[in-house]
Amino acid sequence: MSLANKLAEERRARLGAERMLELKQAELSAANRKLGRHAKQLTEEIVETRAQVETFRNENQRVKSDLSIANEKVQVAERRLWHSIETIQDGFAFFDLDNIMIAANHAYLAVFDRLEEVAPGISYPRILQLTTEEGIVNIGDTRPSDWRAEMLHRWESPDPQPVTLRLWNDQYIRLIDQRGHGGDVVTLALNITETVRYEKELQQARKVAEAAARAKSAFLANMSHEIRTPLNGVVGMAELLTDTSMSEEQRLYVNTIKNSAEALLVIINDVLDYSKIEAEKLVLHPEPFDLERCIHEVIMLLQPTTREKGIDLLVDYDLFLPTLFLGDPGRIRQVLTNLLGNAVKFTLKGHVLVRVTGMHPEHSILTNIHITVEDTGIGIPAAKVDYIFGEFNQVEDDRNRQFEGTGLGLAISQRLISMMDGKIWVESEEGAGSAFGFQIALPMADLDEAAAPELPRGLTRGLVIDPVAVNRQIQAKQLELMGIEATCLDSGRAVLDLLNAGEGGFDVILTDHNMPEMDGLELAETLRSRGVEAPILLFSTNSSYAAQDPARQFVQGVLQKPTPRRELFARLRELAPGFVEPPPGSQPAKARAMRVLAAEDNKTNRLVFGKMIKSLDIDLRFATNGEEAVEAYADFRPDLIFMDISMPRMDGKQATIAIRAAETAQEPDAQRTPIIAMTAHAMDGDREGIMSAGLDDYLTKPLRKQAIIDHVIANCPEGARPPLPDEKGQQVG
Ligand code: ADP
Repeated sequence: MSLANKLAEERRARLGAERMLELKQAELSAANRKLGRHAKQLTEEIVETRAQVETFRNENQRVKSDLSIANEKVQVAERRLWHSIETIQDGFAFFDLDNIMIAANHAYLAVFDRLEEVAPGISYPRILQLTTEEGIVNIGDTRPSDWRAEMLHRWESPDPQPVTLRLWNDQYIRLIDQRGHGGDVVTLALNITETVRYEKELQQARKVAEAAARAKSAFLANMSHEIRTPLNGVVGMAELLTDTSMSEEQRLYVNTIKNSAEALLVIINDVLDYSKIEAEKLVLHPEPFDLERCIHEVIMLLQPTTREKGIDLLVDYDLFLPTLFLGDPGRIRQVLTNLLGNAVKFTLKGHVLVRVTGMHPEHSILTNIHITVEDTGIGIPAAKVDYIFGEFNQVEDDRNRQFEGTGLGLAISQRLISMMDGKIWVESEEGAGSAFGFQIALPMADLDEAAAPELPRGLTRGLVIDPVAVNRQIQAKQLELMGIEATCLDSGRAVLDLLNAGEGGFDVILTDHNMPEMDGLELAETLRSRGVEAPILLFSTNSSYAAQDPARQFVQGVLQKPTPRRELFARLRELAPGFVEPPPGSQPAKARAMRVLAAEDNKTNRLVFGKMIKSLDIDLRFATNGEEAVEAYADFRPDLIFMDISMPRMDGKQATIAIRAAETAQEPDAQRTPIIAMTAHAMDGDREGIMSAGLDDYLTKPLRKQAIIDHVIANCPEGARPPLPDEKGQQVG
């Protein structure tokens, strides 16, 4: 090879090597650049990480310092809490799940004075053990092991009930234990010594106060008895005087004496009752009673006043409501007397209507009874409607001032009704009238008593004549419920017009007695003269007076108004076609007179009693004390005894006990003689004493003629002739 070739080759080789070198250098510098970038990135990351580490370090530092501050705070709080717990007077401790004491304050530990063992770490059962061993708690007669078992049982219950312990030094501790979620128990031992002492003092003070209240009511009862006895004489004698012939002026004086004495009695009774309720001495005495009769009894007492005032007194007793209930008839009568008495008092014209309705909810033994007393009187201003139920509260205006009263009646009624779990209310419109109502729930006394009495059959058309619209409505409703179609007219004249128009064909005629122009008896006479033969029933507010009228012969019956349902049914049944009269001779004409014994030590009262029933055909004998009464029982064999309770030598209760003993001694099934107590407005204790001595009923003094007569009639035995010959034992108005 030529040199030139060699040189050229070398140069090519060198050129190639140089290119290669350039290539490698370029690669190297690219790698270097990459490396540089990477190194830069790493450096940046390192810086960043360092910064983060620094931040974390700072954070950590702060957390550490916060933690130590918090720790300090916790310690301070704990110290303060314990400090507070230590300073409270009551014991405080807590126990863990295994009943081991974790901590307790000084007050808790102090109870176990100087017992070093009682400290955190001790178990609850051991504390109980030490408590009985050292006599720390006064456990009375309980055996220590029993007491501990009881306390442990309580402790272990999920919700231990508080318990009061009496310590050896007469301090009282109330233990309140609370079980937490984890099973820990916190115990609070409250020192209630002061409270217990205070309670004892209160009890003592209460006993003293109760004794004083008892003394007060006993004093009131005695006083009322003392005042009532002479007042009884005043009322009774005045009533008898009114039956004698007197000049108008004398009659006015006597009536004033009687009315004043009666008003005084009402006040005495109200005050006495109210003080009894206040002293919580008034208890209810439920017994079977006839509600309808109870209402009619109240009405009978008010009738003289309504007759005098010329207002009508009406009763609308739901035809399908039973009448026999279990309740306190005395107190229900008292409420009725008050509401009806007020209605009559505050009504100058129009009527007073008692409505009785009832509902017997299914599956209940109680019947809801609603009684409303509606009047057409002066009414009550709307603003005073609630006020009048307060004690001694009366509406003070010119119209009211003319009426007497204590303002206690409604307060007493409200209390009595609330004692019976009932409600009392009033709706009133000034100038138009008032409606007082009450609702009580009473059990029926006789579950067999048919809701509606047996209805008369065979009477289809009835004629009702009464000038008062409400009365016509009530009677028409009653007749219609009995299946008798009723035509109502307001006067005798209207009846005659009807007859003149050719109408008639009534099966029964019900007429009011006291009607303007033509009264009921005159109407009856006219009807008979015109050939009307339908039976006529006369309704009179003074039935005994009506019964004596010669025109009585034109009517088939005289009924006292308002008439109890039973009475009306009975009369209508008798009039119905097909009714058979009881065989004559069932009451022999020549029967003996009924024997009545009255034991009464007070001469005036004996006189009043005798005069009050002088119209009765009976054989009356008096005894002047209990001993005489027992003797008279043996030789007189009375059919009925009226027994005064407070009498010298032997009182009425003792005499009754002796008579009851004599009865059982004779023959075990001998007839029990009814004995009716005559007493002053009795205290409740007395009433129980009276009834438990074997008396059957009682009358409160001053005695009412009608009440005595009712008792005599009700107790007339079969073999004796009726005490009131006419009217089948009708009540006398
Ligand atoms: P008293 O009748 O003895 O005054 P009450 O407590 O029975 O006491 O009645 C309180 C008052 O309520 C009465 O004084 C009277 O103002 C008013 N009042 C009660 N009943 C009626 C009524 N039927 N009509 C009008 N006002 C009445």
